[in-house]
Amino acid sequence: MSSSFRLGRIFSIPISIHYTWFIIFALVTLTLARGFFPNFYVWPEWLYWITGLVTSALFFSSVVAHELSHSLVSRYYGVPVRSITLFIFGGVAHIGREAAGPMREMAMALAGPLSSLAIAGLFHVVHRVALPYSEPVAALAWWLRYINVALAVFNLIPGFPLDGGRVFRALLWRVTGDFLKATGAAVAVGRGIGYLFITLGLLSILGISPVAQLFGFIGGLWFAFIGWFLENVASSSYRQTQLKEALHGVSAGELMNRDCVIVPPERTVEELVRDYVLPRGSRCAVVAQGGRLAGMLTMANLRGLPQGQWPTTLVENVVIPPAQLRVAHPGEDVLDVLERMEEEDIGQMVVVRSGEVLGVLFREHIFRYARTRTELGYRGGS
Ligand SMILES: [Zn+2]
Repeated sequence: MSSSFRLGRIFSIPISIHYTWFIIFALVTLTLARGFFPNFYVWPEWLYWITGLVTSALFFSSVVAHELSHSLVSRYYGVPVRSITLFIFGGVAHIGREAAGPMREMAMALAGPLSSLAIAGLFHVVHRVALPYSEPVAALAWWLRYINVALAVFNLIPGFPLDGGRVFRALLWRVTGDFLKATGAAVAVGRGIGYLFITLGLLSILGISPVAQLFGFIGGLWFAFIGWFLENVASSSYRQTQLKEALHGVSAGELMNRDCVIVPPERTVEELVRDYVLPRGSRCAVVAQGGRLAGMLTMANLRGLPQGQWPTTLVENVVIPPAQLRVAHPGEDVLDVLERMEEEDIGQMVVVRSGEVLGVLFREHIFRYARTRTELGYRGGS
């Protein structure tokens, strides 16, 4: 996710915040300081705000703890966790590969809700202990206990990719032995639940009883919104799973393009286009001197330079210099390369082995390969 920023590391796992989290943080603080606390307690105005902010921060930490427990269990089973991103409905742990088996997947999925329940228990104790001493501390602990139970329950909804959906998938996977089919079924349930939420939300917004009496207009908006969100993540996570399945075990060297022209840096751009790019139908040019990588030229580079300057401009003056190029090793997992490309938002990487240019790997080509493989249902090869 590019619309997020890095917060820091816990247990050496990078934690990022998606910008939507600021909306949730502000809303939670506002709801607590202007609604929840004033409804139950008589405090000075500033105390409502301070308690609201502290509660929000602790809520935020509860979500981090939930995601961290997924990540730590996953890492225990040897499935690497790249990062955790906090977004509007909590967090997402970016786990590099899918789980190694149904039972491990189930343990990873259950770790989050269980930790939320444990945190709820902890706040229950804090609430009881603080009650005679500090009303604000007791009040925030009470709310946090309730919200952590809600977090556990929401995440246990059996629609993929929520934790409950992952548990459901693990069960199906165990029974059928077919990972993709199990994912497909859990995703279908996830989307179904999404549509159910949307329907309930719309009925409530339109004032149709008895739903409207139950949730009200604002509740209806929330239901519709959460439903829309669930449907979306379910669909996109299915595409992600297909992609991961299709690219599993494929290396960068297998998918790289070996037809990129290799040009010396002292040629002019005119010569490059006339003598290398056009005759060979190549869409990229790697600049190398004595086999060593000296830069790369893409179609975008060439288009950016006015044609009048082509005969007089040297290739070495317009190349993307090696320091700015990201390179891949031929033995590297293509899935890892793709993730690096997405993180850096680049369309290609030069494949290099001990300094020698072997080819270029294009993001487009990786997707095309995965799509073809999925369409054919091909499971062989690597
Ligand atoms: Zn979770």
